[in-house]
Amino acid sequence: MHERVTRLRALLRERDLPALLVSAPSNRRYLSGFRGSAGMLLVSESAAMLFTDGRYLIQSAREAPDFALSELVNPGRSLGDALAEAAGMLGLRRIGVEASNLSLAEYRRIEAALDGVELVAGEGLVERLREVKDGAEIAILRRAIAITDQAITAVLPQLRPEMSERQAAWMLEVAMRERGAEAPSFPIIVAAGPNAALPHARPGDDLLGEGLPIVIDMGARVDGYHADLTRTVTIGAPAARFREIYAIVLAAQQQALAGLRPGLACSDADALARDHITAAGYGAAFGHGLGHGVGLDIHEGPGLRRVAEGKQSPVLHAGMVTSVEPGIYLEGWGGVRIEDLALITADGAEQLSQAPKQVVTG
Ligand code: ZN
Ligand code: ZN
Repeated sequence: MHERVTRLRALLRERDLPALLVSAPSNRRYLSGFRGSAGMLLVSESAAMLFTDGRYLIQSAREAPDFALSELVNPGRSLGDALAEAAGMLGLRRIGVEASNLSLAEYRRIEAALDGVELVAGEGLVERLREVKDGAEIAILRRAIAITDQAITAVLPQLRPEMSERQAAWMLEVAMRERGAEAPSFPIIVAAGPNAALPHARPGDDLLGEGLPIVIDMGARVDGYHADLTRTVTIGAPAARFREIYAIVLAAQQQALAGLRPGLACSDADALARDHITAAGYGAAFGHGLGHGVGLDIHEGPGLRRVAEGKQSPVLHAGMVTSVEPGIYLEGWGGVRIEDLALITADGAEQLSQAPKQVVTG
């Protein structure tokens, strides 16, 4: 954790920002190790403080030993009071805040308490650090991914045409939990037939059916880190159209996985798959970006997607873990998406998820 704070301090110096108030839960956990549901961090050149309430005194001392604890008491000692004290003690005249993770009400309370301290937007700083994973994070992600791989591999042969999407989703969730997931990374998607045309469909009472595309998007969460995997299968032999579309998506995904490397612009990574799908005539049916980073959040940077004309795309760096998930969605018919996680390495990318990409199951 100490190393992460050191890297944040370097970024703060770069931005000429004396301190950052960290309010996003994932950022708080990333920097401090504290897993509680409430609390904020203040990181300056010389101080690392955790503000939280009485419920978390024992827990925070255990989980965030590098941070000095400042207790909030309700009523009596608000975050504003504690921050004003800290700012006075540290001589801070300017503090960055994570504007997209601070409610307007909280912001106003802090502003009112911090007389003479300027609050400025310090957006995305910790998020930027989090994009490149360290060894400990990669080890946890590998565990989450292995559990996800094992769960789907175990459940696919048990699926039957007369099962509902919701039943299948529950079987997948149980299988992940039995193998050590603390929770699903997100509500599991099982979308059969025409429902598979919706990239973020919710499982319902519709039956899996025979020969229909079934999109399954799932992931295990382990120690706060999220796996993310999509397979598209059919129960029984698929129609010729499914085979055609599946082959296009798979080839697009393989081209992207083969082409990822450090230094590649994220928009060019997206194009590795998109160009293939477009050339096959389905460009308009691939309505989302190629992928996203995963970590303490299920969706984080980098975003592998197109950028507007004239805008610059971020580039990939070694240590990033990103999804690679091209898809083709056709209203009334269904869809195909294939998603794996890849680790950007020194000279390419390593595909982390290993669940087979078989088409026919059950
Ligand atoms: Zn997914
Ligand atoms: Zn994803």
